[in-house]
Amino acid sequence: MTSPHILIAGGGYVGMYTALRLQRKLRRGEARVTVIDPRPNMTYQPFLPEAAAGSLEPRHVVVPLRRTLRGCDVVTGRLVGLDHANRVATIEPSEGSTYELSYDILVSALGSVSRVLPIPGLADQAIGFQQIEEAIALRNRVLERLDAAASIRDDDRRRRLLTFVFVGGGYAGIEALAELEDMARYATRYYGHVAPEDMRWVLVEAAPRILPEVDEDMARYTLDQLRKRGIEVHLETRLESVVGGRVVLTGGEEFDADTIVWTAGVKANPILAKTDLPLDDRGRVRARADLTVEDMPGAFAAGDAAAVPDLANPGRLCSPSAQHAVRQAKVLADNVVRSLRGAPLEDYRHRHAGSVASLGLHKGVAQVYGIKARGIIAWFMHRTYHMSRMPTLNKKIRIVLDWTLALFFRREVVSLGSLHRERDEWERANH
Ligand SMILES: Cc1cc2nc3c(=O)[nH]c(=O)nc-3n(C[C@H](O)[C@H](O)[C@H](O)COP(=O)(O)OP(=O)(O)OC[C@H]3O[C@@H](n4cnc5c(N)ncnc54)[C@H](O)[C@@H]3O)c2cc1C
Repeated sequence: MTSPHILIAGGGYVGMYTALRLQRKLRRGEARVTVIDPRPNMTYQPFLPEAAAGSLEPRHVVVPLRRTLRGCDVVTGRLVGLDHANRVATIEPSEGSTYELSYDILVSALGSVSRVLPIPGLADQAIGFQQIEEAIALRNRVLERLDAAASIRDDDRRRRLLTFVFVGGGYAGIEALAELEDMARYATRYYGHVAPEDMRWVLVEAAPRILPEVDEDMARYTLDQLRKRGIEVHLETRLESVVGGRVVLTGGEEFDADTIVWTAGVKANPILAKTDLPLDDRGRVRARADLTVEDMPGAFAAGDAAAVPDLANPGRLCSPSAQHAVRQAKVLADNVVRSLRGAPLEDYRHRHAGSVASLGLHKGVAQVYGIKARGIIAWFMHRTYHMSRMPTLNKKIRIVLDWTLALFFRREVVSLGSLHRERDEWERANH
């Protein structure tokens, strides 16, 4: 008899941590595990802002799936359809034609994607902030804009190059904005023709406040800190249009910007609509507290793309956060093992501990288990917490080394955007 086949769709937080734990818990021959993800690496997203700011080496915030999950089969491809009733997944590999893969147990860990609104010009002009390539492209872009602005005479063009707009004031947007502004401000010391006050950093938020993840007083503190740094924050304001880089806000203000970053929330992975899994009105897989999928024997789901009841807050669902994703993965993996062994499953219960956010070097805001911290203490909490959560000892050590080296050497302000234009010089030489 062949051993049961566990298919993990998505190798992010939930997928990778689930596979890691299954690898450890399953007895030899008890089951085989396949992880499918279009990316060969899991990205530790809370470190993306620091990678964008150059405080961390980008390679150190991603975890290679093949090296970490040596007991699993890793498929670099995309799930493009799923018929769970017949236990068949349709896979589109990164090269070649699609094929079907049968399995016995499914773990749905497909995460979320940027929730982009139909705003004129947005799809062409904006960049998201969910993936490592977006974080690095943004860093390169900011530094390239400083280089370009320092070298031209046209004032209007210069103003546009030096205007950076972020839409969405949750922790991802605030951290990305604050870290990049901090990095750019530092970088201007090397630019004779660009002063910090020549740059315009703008945050647009539709709600009356930023950072819904922390209490009002902490959000107000963060707002004050950003404003003190000269960052323009527009609350209760929406981006109406951004055609050709012309930013139009509700209320009528208009200006040109070369860089628009969209961090206005996420939605469940839309590929779930191509499966027979039951979804809620927001497209998330309907899961029970034990992380099994409603009415779908043999299916488990967790993370951003699952609607999991929050037993610590009856009547509510777990928020989309790494904090839940990591802990759900542990319970999920244990429940998969229990189900294989015919043991009763356990429910997932975790009281959300709070949030920690970095606002640039030595600046932060934190609210953890009711304890509120600001400035360097919060920043230190942010670093310690995320370092402790970073998967694998190898990556933990590399991250600590990055931070330690930064104590002794000046910050790197190199743009390597040309890495993605590797044929430019060759083509210029041949024409
Ligand atoms: C910039 C940023 C900062 C953040 N900071 C924090 C923080 O400080 N604290 C916190 O708690 N949370 C934070 N989060 C949120 C946290 O990262 C997410 O909640 C967490 O990643 C959710 O885990 P997941 O496994 O559900 O999804 P993910 O980790 O996104 O994993 C989903 C995986 O599915 C893969 N996938 C997508 N489509 C397919 C397909 N068709 N087939 C197969 N695989 C597919 C993706 O490539 C990805 O690897 C942050 C998020 C961002 C973007």
